[in-house]
Amino acid sequence: MLTTDIYHVEEAGNTSVIVEKLNIIIYKGQIVLFKTKTNYIQIYLLLMILISLSFLVGPLLASASADTGVSHPLVILNGRQLEFEVLPTIENNRTMVPLRTIFESMGAKVDWNSTTLVVTATKGDITVILPLNSRTATVNGSIYNLEVPSKIVNNRTLAPLRFVAEAFGGTVTWDENTGNINIISSDPTPSPPVPQPREVIVVLDAGHGGWDPGAGVSQLIEKDVNLVIALKAGELLKQRGIRVEYTRNNDSYVSLEERSSIANKLNATLFVSIHNNANILSAPCGTETYFYAPQEYPDLFVQRDDRARLAKALQIQLLDKLQRQNRGVKEANLSVLRNTRMPSVLVEVAFISNPAEEALLKTNDFKDRAAQAIANGILSFLNK
Ligand SMILES: [Zn+2]
Repeated sequence: MLTTDIYHVEEAGNTSVIVEKLNIIIYKGQIVLFKTKTNYIQIYLLLMILISLSFLVGPLLASASADTGVSHPLVILNGRQLEFEVLPTIENNRTMVPLRTIFESMGAKVDWNSTTLVVTATKGDITVILPLNSRTATVNGSIYNLEVPSKIVNNRTLAPLRFVAEAFGGTVTWDENTGNINIISSDPTPSPPVPQPREVIVVLDAGHGGWDPGAGVSQLIEKDVNLVIALKAGELLKQRGIRVEYTRNNDSYVSLEERSSIANKLNATLFVSIHNNANILSAPCGTETYFYAPQEYPDLFVQRDDRARLAKALQIQLLDKLQRQNRGVKEANLSVLRNTRMPSVLVEVAFISNPAEEALLKTNDFKDRAAQAIANGILSFLNK
């Protein structure tokens, strides 16, 4: 409570005349004015009225605000009412429901990556990937467009009801009389997790081949250099007991789609595409490594940490072993990076169009070091 003085002032021509001194009390954000002469008993009566009014009006205001715009429907899954820590809400005619509670009640396992802000839920052979604040999710890699993006309320992810109900094959109906939501999920019992020790498979992709030479300005052709480095790197990994598969192990043409598809069919652990760079100018030189994991592709985005980490591991090793200019780790929408379902990177070892680097690429020593760097980068990513 705060009291201060204020004056009731009236204008008389050019002069102001103080008519009377007033006191002001600020009570609960409201200003109460009273004359100095006012009996203090009257002030306390006034305060008492204000206090009792605030008790009466407070709950009325609160319930009024609850009624405007937001309501909380019940959610009934297979005949059983679900309990939520954060209530489902209807906002702008969209019902947003707590995703984890419903998914887990359906028997799904739910993971939350606080770095990438992506929810991953699995049940049986269905995997649902939902990035926060995104209008797209994927169900087993197929894009599902959301009416409204998911959001966080009190540390819980709320997502549009239809998506949450249907992602694992459920159906949803509304009870028009009660406004309640009924979800029928075909299989509410959790399927037991099957732990499968997965064999590590590295797919090495020598860029270009056959009628596609890649870059090359003089006698050195990119496809040949890429293949030599890929085969050497593969030998080094095999010596460390790692299964290595190549998209090509000779001078043959393989389409970009086929390259990703080979890795996907093998369910490979990781994919490394090996290239050498070129520019119409001879000056550009150095080493760069690419990855791709944008939010628009949730199944890539969920691997963002791993994809970036793999790119960084390779770039560090290439710089260390080759000592060429660091052009950095970059992100680009390249076919083999977009279409591979496992962490994937593309390295540009050096510039064939730069005379100094072209001379280096002709030597076995340089190609050996590039291969060693690629093998080391992969091993460090795999913690081996
Ligand atoms: Zn290339």
